[in-house]
Amino acid sequence: IKVDPILLKNSENVIIGSIINIEDVTETVMAEKIRSDFVANVTHELKTPLTSINGFIETLKNNNEIDIETRNKFLDIINAESNRLRRLIDDILLLSFIENNRNDKYEEVNLFLAFKEVFDLTFNLARNKNIEYTYSFSNKDIYLNTNKDYIKQIFLNLIDNAIKYTPENGSVRVLVDDDNKNIKISVKDTGIGIPNEEISRIFERFYRVDKARSRKIGGTGLGLAIVKHIVISLNGNIEVKSKLNEGTEFIVFIPK
Ligand code: ADP
Repeated sequence: IKVDPILLKNSENVIIGSIINIEDVTETVMAEKIRSDFVANVTHELKTPLTSINGFIETLKNNNEIDIETRNKFLDIINAESNRLRRLIDDILLLSFIENNRNDKYEEVNLFLAFKEVFDLTFNLARNKNIEYTYSFSNKDIYLNTNKDYIKQIFLNLIDNAIKYTPENGSVRVLVDDDNKNIKISVKDTGIGIPNEEISRIFERFYRVDKARSRKIGGTGLGLAIVKHIVISLNGNIEVKSKLNEGTEFIVFIPK
């Protein structure tokens, strides 16, 4: 609570009263905390790969006798860490773009065609893990006046996660349905699942259930935060159903 007293004085400078302005600033303080936590997290997330890149470059510079095999191993690490840095920067910029509500690219989007572009991008990821990757649309002529990039991003992030967090030989299924009010997008996998107590946190920026694992498989920790913010900007909502070691389903509703 912020208290601002103002003293009222007469022409002889004698206090004749006061006005006290009491303001509940809980929300402002919370928003400020989220912002400063985010900056701290961004700094940490960007510094980690940079430190590793610098370290390996220094080692390579200072040791002429490193054998070619070790050298190549170090170069591969530098390469992987730079890619990670690029993915982080791309995701941070995208999140900030969505948050600033620059959603002005409305067009008539055919949901099936938008999905198909993502399917072609993700098909090989699933095939490499022998994951059965299928889809079903209640009809192929569902149109939405919306931002096509946003719709593709929702599909991409949810499907990418479903494939990432599903072991080999599992399955990923995409279902798209519509009624007169909403479009429903469901991405369901037979993966590792999310512990119940973690579900409320997975949409937070940089939150990961298993940090080491997520980092190893290339996650930035921003994928779901991006999805959530897109869904909010489209006035929709998102639900999660998950069972540990059985699978997860993300369901997005977007009003027509
Ligand atoms: P990341 O880049 O780490 O995947 P996300 O924001 O996309 O970040 O997801 C946050 C966390 O939620 C992940 O680290 C993972 O622990 C969990 N998660 C997301 N999708 C799934 C899924 N389909 N199955 C199991 N866990 C998931």
